[in-house]
Amino acid sequence: MKLATFTHAGSTRVGVVEGEELIDLAAAAPELPHEMCALLEAGPEALARVERAVAAARTRIPTDDLHLEAPILRPPKILAVGLNYADHIAESGMETPKHPTIFNKQSTSVTGPYDPVHLPRASGALDYEGELGLVIGRRCRHVRRERAAEVVAGYLVVNDVSVRDWQFHTPTLTMGKSFDTHCPLGPWIMTADEVGDPHALSLRTWVNGELRQESNTKELIFDSFAIIEYLSTAFTLEPGDVISTGTPAGVGISRKPPQLLIAGDVIRIELEHIGQIENPVIPEPEESARI
Ligand code: ZN
Repeated sequence: MKLATFTHAGSTRVGVVEGEELIDLAAAAPELPHEMCALLEAGPEALARVERAVAAARTRIPTDDLHLEAPILRPPKILAVGLNYADHIAESGMETPKHPTIFNKQSTSVTGPYDPVHLPRASGALDYEGELGLVIGRRCRHVRRERAAEVVAGYLVVNDVSVRDWQFHTPTLTMGKSFDTHCPLGPWIMTADEVGDPHALSLRTWVNGELRQESNTKELIFDSFAIIEYLSTAFTLEPGDVISTGTPAGVGISRKPPQLLIAGDVIRIELEHIGQIENPVIPEPEESARI
């Protein structure tokens, strides 16, 4: 199933996309939570109820008539992995790490699958990173690699948008990875049962129609399940947590000469069996100053 968060007729809620239409769960299964983290937290019985409601639904909304939001509007945690494809490590001139290079993106950086990414007032060093993201479906701790698939609700596309000069102000990466709008997610959560092997998916990124990144998740150094084992050794993972697994070669900063993003550019990222997201770059609006 394609679990989506959408806005229609002035309210934002969850639904299931099928083809060019969406089944509104607020109408088809009103007893279920209308927010994605709560829906995931409700567990497998709730998702089975969603499947039955979708099969029985008579009214469907054309996707052209609604706005798809990030499937999880405010993930409890967004964790990401740096240096997780050999070709990206080589282009970055770094050593292959012994442990996953984990950093956080702030939950306020999330934006929708087709919403604009802001070119910050503070920097012109804006870059894209096409990535496979996974969504945690069950509260868990100390998950062994062999059982990690059981805690994954599904997968989505992540653009780990990065502000390169701010990223390298300090070794922690956090500032350059967390500007507002710099975490497009979506277009939906493809439930794990429909993805098959998450480590055999082609991943491609285009800027203005020009292919910039082309790889496959089989090239991941630490795969999704190894990352879950590593993270959950230290802390609890919760329904709705997003983990982005890293980007392959072809980021703008490593091109010769570098090709950073400018206003007017459009970034499209496609993951096999999951879908694609497409985000235009616009100057950071004046109204982003709120104090
Ligand atoms: Zn990244």
